Amino acid sequence: MKLRFITNPYCPLCGNPGGSTLCHGCRTDTPLFHKHRSLWEYGPVSRRIIFALKHGRQRHLAKLLAHWVLPLVLEHVIDCIIPVPLHQDRLRQRGFNQCGLLVQEIRKLCGIPVDFHSLMRPLGAPSQGRFSPQQRQDNVMGAFSAHSELENKRVLVIDDVFTTGATLNACAVALQQAGVFSVHAVTIAKVSR
Ligand SMILES: [Zn+2]
Repeated sequence: MKLRFITNPYCPLCGNPGGSTLCHGCRTDTPLFHKHRSLWEYGPVSRRIIFALKHGRQRHLAKLLAHWVLPLVLEHVIDCIIPVPLHQDRLRQRGFNQCGLLVQEIRKLCGIPVDFHSLMRPLGAPSQGRFSPQQRQDNVMGAFSAHSELENKRVLVIDDVFTTGATLNACAVALQQAGVFSVHAVTIAKVSR
């Protein structure tokens, strides 16, 4: 078992490892965001690390991950960074947003402004765990809304895992409706396709 860093070649749009041209997924179902990069391929080790971040409120882990994720963030020309929000019930249960922790640490390293309030998740959606790709898309689409103060901004959204891209697509739709200029994304780990 080891951590697999995603390095060249990867899909220029979704960051899927394996080739430097548009991957099959992007050709058949074009993502709604501008560009996504992920640090690791999703696997047993990355899953364990993300689980620890999610459930352990481990600031030292967030700090370490921020150092790893930073170069990926700096590949994008952006005005602000936004963690994918949890909906209120989940936030209340867990007490914190794991992506929020990571974003706070990234800000300390690069000084890029962070926005914790302009992307909202007013609707509770059931956990995506056992859903098919289409169910994931249907489940999460429309779950987000965004504030118009993001108009014309280049926004980078941070999430923990890229599974099908459904969550990032839903964020992108909400952000585009709010008039953002472009939606970029970085995640800690990506499920290969
Ligand atoms: Zn792709």
